[in-house]
Amino acid sequence: MPLSDYDIIIGLEVHAELKTESKIFCGCSTEFGGLPNSHVCPVCLGLPGALPVLNEQALDYAIMAGLALNCTIAPYSKFDRKQYFYPDSPKAYQISQYDLPFCTNGWIEIPSSEEKGKTKKARIIRVHLEEEAGKTVHSGSGILNSQFALEDYNRCGIPLIEIVGAPDLRSPEEARYYLERLKAILQYTGVSDCKMEEGSLRCDANISLRRKGTTEFGVLAEIKNMNSFKAVQNALEYEAERQAKLLDSGERMVKQTRTWDENKGITVFMRSKEEASDYRYFPDPDLLPVRVTDERIARLRARLPEMPEAKRKRYIEEWGLPEYDASFISSSREIAEFAEAAVAEYGDAKTVSNWVMGELTRLLNQERMEITESKVTPSMLTALLRLVDSGTINLNTAKAVFEEMFMTGKAAQTIVEEKGLAQINDTGELERLAKEVLAANPKSVADYLGGKEQAIGFLVGQMMKATKGRANPGIVNTLLRQELEKMRSS
Ligand SMILES: [Zn+2]
Repeated sequence: MPLSDYDIIIGLEVHAELKTESKIFCGCSTEFGGLPNSHVCPVCLGLPGALPVLNEQALDYAIMAGLALNCTIAPYSKFDRKQYFYPDSPKAYQISQYDLPFCTNGWIEIPSSEEKGKTKKARIIRVHLEEEAGKTVHSGSGILNSQFALEDYNRCGIPLIEIVGAPDLRSPEEARYYLERLKAILQYTGVSDCKMEEGSLRCDANISLRRKGTTEFGVLAEIKNMNSFKAVQNALEYEAERQAKLLDSGERMVKQTRTWDENKGITVFMRSKEEASDYRYFPDPDLLPVRVTDERIARLRARLPEMPEAKRKRYIEEWGLPEYDASFISSSREIAEFAEAAVAEYGDAKTVSNWVMGELTRLLNQERMEITESKVTPSMLTALLRLVDSGTINLNTAKAVFEEMFMTGKAAQTIVEEKGLAQINDTGELERLAKEVLAANPKSVADYLGGKEQAIGFLVGQMMKATKGRANPGIVNTLLRQELEKMRSS
């Protein structure tokens, strides 16, 4: 049976580190990349007698994330100990939340892959607050060729939210949409920098198949170790095919954890998962339960910026942008802020959007830079666009000028003056040149006069070449046609 005879059921669990200055239960720095074990203290090392104190900023951020994800915020909550023994957790338990998470019952709106052009709400079951574990560094081989592992506890105790999504996603593509939207929302809210490459955003995926027309969920596999959104989509696509083949062959499926091998493009069996782990949760006796007042929720709600979904809709309705442009511009808060500033100054949103999605994004990708590092400001882009509008430079020159602006940070006007790039609008000069070009290209002239309209393209090209791209293309076109018509009637 082909894969299309099955429903694909996907649920994602996402961990995001919160962007606080200090850790969740102690005053240690959360700075990334410090010397191993330089940001530690008795609390985050789990030494006997050390007592945790909740970082209120971490709680504020967790609540803001919950509000941005349309969750209900619990008025009364608590922390629980999750017991497990692993070297990256020095206390042998993690402080997490069990039955009373801070946020429940939210949703994210994503494009539907089942009904093109429609959106759907992917539910979020819960968002809870917990502490990060340390980092195990597996090191090379010693004299006896034995592997060893080192522990870095700098990460231990960094505040973390876990966002548990409902199994509402019906394709690997929807999983990617969900992650893209989730990341944008968290970044907009300012609670996490969501850097997948630094591990501050991580995703595990649960996937199972169900014969179309039935309601019972199949046996699921959990996939770990995907370090980009593209990898999540690829891993899920591979896994869906793999499970469909197994189900077709009638083989018994086992609940299992698999890892994504990026190089081979396959998921690999890690361990079976037939029974739920018993973490023996119980309320942490060192931390008081937490009451979240309505005033606190109201204060945090007021701090939320306009969310990407709202921006996207506004760009379509108020700016008249196509869906694609609106999604692109609203996908990151920084891009949206750049575009909004430029549109406020320049006015024409579609032109701004073309430049942001085109030249600016191309150069940012090429130089591996973020938009916040760009030397070109919205005002500088506006000044460049005005030079095009006034006919001082043409569009092709503008692209070259923009690249120079991007690399050097110089103003458009300065570059145009320094390099003598101003457009040639002098009709007399261009007319003289048109006659020269026509005289030098009798074949194209004959083609045009013989009815081959497109032959004019070559002649325009010759004019642009002769003026090093500075001729006003509109004037060039008109002049050439005028001269050619004169030749026809003579
Ligand atoms: Zn500490």
